[in-house]
Amino acid sequence: MSLFKSFDTKGNEDSDKQNLPVEKVKVLILGSGPAGYTAAIYAARANLNPVIYEGIQPGGQLTTTTEIENFPGYPEGTTGTAMMEDLKKQAERFGTDVRFGIATSADLSVQPFRVIIDEEKVVEADALIIATGATAKYLGLESEEKFKGQGVSACATCDGFFYKGKDVAVVGGGDTACEEATYLAGLCNKVYLIVRKPYLRASKAMQERVFSTSNIEVLFEHTTKEIVGDMTGVNGVVLNSTKKGEDVKIDISGFFLAIGHHPNSDIFKPMIETDEVGYIKTIPGTSKTNISGVFACGDVQDPHYRQAITAAGSGCMAAIDTERYLGERKF
Ligand code: NDP
Repeated sequence: MSLFKSFDTKGNEDSDKQNLPVEKVKVLILGSGPAGYTAAIYAARANLNPVIYEGIQPGGQLTTTTEIENFPGYPEGTTGTAMMEDLKKQAERFGTDVRFGIATSADLSVQPFRVIIDEEKVVEADALIIATGATAKYLGLESEEKFKGQGVSACATCDGFFYKGKDVAVVGGGDTACEEATYLAGLCNKVYLIVRKPYLRASKAMQERVFSTSNIEVLFEHTTKEIVGDMTGVNGVVLNSTKKGEDVKIDISGFFLAIGHHPNSDIFKPMIETDEVGYIKTIPGTSKTNISGVFACGDVQDPHYRQAITAAGSGCMAAIDTERYLGERKF
């Protein structure tokens, strides 16, 4: 019987995947955001011949934003897409094998580690770098999809600056929403915080910051019905007051989602240690997970900062940790 164990996203063993073609690589990187590509650049320059699978969203979350002005080294700013294309080219320049494909299941209980790509093949790796990111949760409205990157954003730190002096809305009632509302209040004319419940879920300290900021108005018991706008972007949002049972439209230029993130760690979960939300736990100050030879970097292990620059930094750490791991074991 094959040792191979494959798991579906619910962690159930999947016996269909026993006879797929197998390829062996030294270093496998999953995910193509700033963390994955930075890990690839460092690993390739260290002659580790990394293979990277781009995943479900080639280029990662940055490709859903417009301009990036806070990544050091770009005095005039750049776009998310341009930055990710540059990172890809830089990784390829040093010999990274960049491939289109999605990791659909994994067995981290054997060495080499085994990862199934697109349900079609098994890639065996001496070392694995997980850089699969996190996905911001959206409300699921059609209009939200329509204005993504044109007034709808899931990252105030990334995009808030573009709404300087304007009116914006943040949806959510947790710590992230309060933090983002407070951050935006320092830049914008007015911030509406749209909360579906009659109270905030955020910590007391965070709530106090919100309530003591004069240009934040909290709209309790309101849900979002539709984001409205034109060719130039968002210009308003239609809310429903669940208490009064009536709709109300407010004029805004930016609509920020802060209703949580989902770390893309599901396929590793039966084996890898995560927190209760699913963020992969790493040994502080390193990219090491609970499994020797498996490293995590970027948003999949970072519930706190979630910035391109911190993701890139942790990608560098993952490549260096990988190099040392392989060197110590003489793979
Ligand atoms: P949370 O899960 O804590 O909060 C999500 C919020 O979004 C809740 O208020 C929830 O409402 C609301 N929400 C969810 N779905 C919808 C929806 N469809 N429509 C409207 N509202 C919705 O996520 P956070 O990102 O805020 O925080 C994640 C973790 O990170 C938490 O543990 C938090 O404490 C921590 N954190 C800590 C920070 C700090 O200490 N500085 C900063 C940021 C985060 P409801 O309450 O009704 O469920």
